[in-house]
Amino acid sequence: MTTLAFIGLGNMGGGMAANQAAAGRIVRAFDLSAQALQKAEAAGCTPCASAAEAVSGADAVITMLPAGKHVRGVYAADILPNAKEGALLVDCSTIDVDSARAVAALSSDAGKGFRPADAPVSGGTAAADAGTLAFMVGCEEADFAPVQRLLEPMSRVTLQAGSSGAGQAAKICNNMLLGISMIGTCEAFALAEKLGLDAQRFYDISSQSSGQNWSMTAYCPVEGVGPQSPADRAYEGGFATAMMLKDLRLAKQAAISSGGVTPLGGHAEALYAMLSEQGLGDKDFSSVIELLKRGTVT
Ligand code: NAD
Repeated sequence: MTTLAFIGLGNMGGGMAANQAAAGRIVRAFDLSAQALQKAEAAGCTPCASAAEAVSGADAVITMLPAGKHVRGVYAADILPNAKEGALLVDCSTIDVDSARAVAALSSDAGKGFRPADAPVSGGTAAADAGTLAFMVGCEEADFAPVQRLLEPMSRVTLQAGSSGAGQAAKICNNMLLGISMIGTCEAFALAEKLGLDAQRFYDISSQSSGQNWSMTAYCPVEGVGPQSPADRAYEGGFATAMMLKDLRLAKQAAISSGGVTPLGGHAEALYAMLSEQGLGDKDFSSVIELLKRGTVT
């Protein structure tokens, strides 16, 4: 039976660890929050007093932490000194590409045969709870199959993006494109309204024309138009603007460190930052249409 350590049992990690336990695996869980740890215990995980204790003896370690600094800290202080020889070390957090590569290099250089992978997810807390996340993985070719088996109870699909850091690169490039395409879709609907064009008729035409895109046809930002989306519930739930802003900042950081040019990514970041400053950081990111309709973009 697989024994794994799970570190970071928050909004995402809590449901993910529960799905590992439900699949019959021994889950040695740790979080700084006592409340998160109690919830994990109720879901069948074994609570541990520290990250170091959780990883000792585990065949695999999964981390689901807020940002690069937390991942670097836990790897340096707890995981690398205490994990079992040959363990799979899989970080599912969304972090900067440089930290993901640094952590993988430290793991490989530890001389204990560790097999590191970055495996950020697409899908929010509902998918984490349901075990239907999409994982994009950066790791050595030979490690992909075991990583895929490890992630299976939490996943709908697991795809290999390339070597270390490639999972994070795929995640931020995809989310930068999503952030930009959502703003483009919102601008088109907002202008259509100004021009007196009915939103449903514009949708019917554009969704069958060259402007068609996922933000329009799967996640329409206009209430009552297209399939059910956060726009139909006052932009509650969905993918929070604050999360989109985090990913766009990671994309900017990656562009700076790699010499990439992402002018529209920069504009998108500024618009979502403005939305956050107006107190809408918790709303779904498609609520950016409200900003455009209000005409308060500076
Ligand atoms: P969260 O803040 O709810 O959970 C993070 C958990 O990590 C917290 O419970 C915190 O106590 C714990 N933690 C922090 N430092 C720790 C340490 N040193 N040792 C042990 N535990 C520690 O965040 P979340 O929403 O679960 O997101 C986790 C990651 O997943 C982030 O990188 C986020 O960007 C990414 N993500 C989130 C979503 C989402 O919809 N929430 C979607 C996709 C990806």
